[in-house]
Amino acid sequence: MIEIQNVRKSFGALEVLKGIDLTVQRGEVVSVIGGSGSGKSTLLTCINGLEPIDSGRIAIDGTEVHAKGTDLNKLRRKVGIVFQQWNAFPHLTVMENVTLAPRKVLGLARAEAEAIAERQLAHVGLGDKLKVYPGRLSGGQQQRMAIARALAMSPDYMLFDEVTSALDPQLVGEVLDTLRLLAHEGMTMICVTHEMKFAREVSDRVAFFHQGVMAEIAPPGQLFDAPQSPELRKFLAATH
Ligand code: ADP
Ligand code: MG
Repeated sequence: MIEIQNVRKSFGALEVLKGIDLTVQRGEVVSVIGGSGSGKSTLLTCINGLEPIDSGRIAIDGTEVHAKGTDLNKLRRKVGIVFQQWNAFPHLTVMENVTLAPRKVLGLARAEAEAIAERQLAHVGLGDKLKVYPGRLSGGQQQRMAIARALAMSPDYMLFDEVTSALDPQLVGEVLDTLRLLAHEGMTMICVTHEMKFAREVSDRVAFFHQGVMAEIAPPGQLFDAPQSPELRKFLAATH
C-alpha cells in the first residue's frame, strides 16, 4: 500500500503540500481532482521520490521513500508514473522505446524484454505498431505507448498525471479506456485527472485538492453528489 502521512512540501516560500494524509490500499483506484496549482503533480512526484519532502512520511509497502539509504531506483520499478506528455526517443521504434528500460534498468535479455513489450503494447491496443516510429503515432497512441512503457517494468502501483490533458478531445477516450482496463484488472492507481466522468466511474475514492490541502476525500458518488465544502462546490460547478 501507499501511505502518505502529514506530508509537507514547499518550493521556497510557497507551501505546496500542507500536511497531506492518504493511504491507498492494494487494488484501490484513487482519483485526484482540483484546480491548477493545488499540489496534485507535486504529490505524485513526491510519492515516487522525484521530489524530496520537508516533513511527514511516504511509504510504499512499508519502505520509506525519503529515508536515507532507500534505493529509489528499486522503488521506482515498483511505482510507474505517466505524465501529460512523454517524449519518446524519435529514432527508436515503439518496441525499442518500450524495451529500453527493461533491458537497461532490469537487465533483461532482448528476447525477454521484447516478449514483455509485445504483451504490454497489445494490452494498450498497439499490437500492430511495434515497428513504427513514435512520430507516426497519434497523440492518443503515444500516450498509450507511454503507459505500455511504464507497465513493461511490471509495477505494482501506477501514478497518472493528467495523461489526457494534452490530447485532442477525440483522442481522450482511447486513453481513458486503457486506464479503465487497468483499473478493472486490479492495478493500484492514483490518477490526477480533469475527466470527472472517468473519475466517477473508475475510482474507489476521489480526493479534492485545494491550495495544498486535501480538502475532501470520499467515494465518487458522495464526493460528486454531496460536496461538503464551498470550494469543491465551486470547483465542480466550474467543470460542468
Ligand atoms: P497542480 O499539479 O495541482 O496544478 P503543482 O503540484 O504542479 O500543481 O504545483 C503546485 C504549486 O507549486 C504551483 O504554484 C507551482 O507553480 C509550484 N511548483 C511546482 N513545481 C515547482 C518547482 N519545481 N519549483 C517551484 N515551484 C513549483
Ligand atoms: Mg499538475
